[in-house]
Amino acid sequence: MRRTSKERLAEKIACFGNFGADERGGITRLSLSPAALDACAEFRRRCVDLGLAVRCDDMGNIYAVKQGAEDLPGPAMGSHADSVVNGGNYDGMLGVLAALEVLETMVGDGISTRRPVSAVIWTNEEGVRFPPAMMSSGVLTGKFDKSAVLAVRDSDGVSFGEALSAGGRQGDRAARLSPATCTAYLELHIEQGPVLDESGESVGVVQGVVGMCNYTISVFGQAGHAGSTPMSRRRDALYAAAGIIRRLHDELGRIEGGPVFTCGHIECRPNMHTIIPEEVSFSLDARHRDPDVMRRVVGVIAALPREPDGCRVEYREEWSRKTTLFDPALAAVVKRNADALGYANRFMFSGPGHDAQYVQDMLPAAMIFVPSIGGRSHCPDENTSLDDCRNGADVLLNAVLELADAQ
Ligand SMILES: [Zn+2]
Repeated sequence: MRRTSKERLAEKIACFGNFGADERGGITRLSLSPAALDACAEFRRRCVDLGLAVRCDDMGNIYAVKQGAEDLPGPAMGSHADSVVNGGNYDGMLGVLAALEVLETMVGDGISTRRPVSAVIWTNEEGVRFPPAMMSSGVLTGKFDKSAVLAVRDSDGVSFGEALSAGGRQGDRAARLSPATCTAYLELHIEQGPVLDESGESVGVVQGVVGMCNYTISVFGQAGHAGSTPMSRRRDALYAAAGIIRRLHDELGRIEGGPVFTCGHIECRPNMHTIIPEEVSFSLDARHRDPDVMRRVVGVIAALPREPDGCRVEYREEWSRKTTLFDPALAAVVKRNADALGYANRFMFSGPGHDAQYVQDMLPAAMIFVPSIGGRSHCPDENTSLDDCRNGADVLLNAVLELADAQ
């Protein structure tokens, strides 16, 4: 089995952690921001130094290619370089740096393959500056209309298309990852949850990404003076919403199989301490791999009382996605290589979404998870031990070499 270099990987993680380091000890590297452009430029420079061909497609995705002995399609690996606001140093970037380390190991150790091997940086995975998330992989796989996403504007009024041009990232459509050039896609990523950290295993072999739904639930009451309206006459939308949130937790919590669910966003109008709340809207995000469990979640929402506490309740589905199953044969390649390296591993599903789930629609895709210490992610405390980072990179290296020499 081949091994990557722990020292080289440590240097990469430290170096790229400078791009977007913020004053609160985290990383703020929004898509196509100066920090993100600088990180991608450093990736590009390192790839050119390794003698690799680097190109950019029309959605700003960057590809570094190590040629194979034959002119055939080959495996690709990668992740994203953008972060959330005040996020951590591993989400996305670790997958990019592991891919770079795989290519550097191949060059340094003189490993040649039958097929070419590519590393990819996906533009705008987080969708924080320009919604939606996973924008560029979504365009490549037909989920989103390209002209519509180019027109999406950030809070300063800059469109995604303008940011691509200004950053020198509006490349060639012909450079896009596609089944013509690529046989399989592997993405290494931090787990962003506690499973591997608690089990002590180094590697998660990801079989898919769980389905999810996202609802807005609105409660309509009546505004009134906080001093003069008797309690018996009130139609308090926030009080009614509190009851609904409590009921959702009780009933969704009883569903067998254990969906995860979150009421994470709430708006209250007029949101004044002297006025009885007139209208409250809140979000409900629920996720599970089993479509039957998700149907039961929807059933609980549909059965909510419509007129609790004298108020009126409406709900609407904002969006949903079905469970994505990764290519089982490709997941088996990951599993076999993790076993051969002697790294403790388990099959698992991802709760968060990743570019790999869109790629799976056009190519065999799979993911390699590494542990998140304490399950923490999207925060400055996000961390993964260097040994686990290296073990994950070793699995990626050996899996990719197997795919690159396939007949
Ligand atoms: Zn990510």
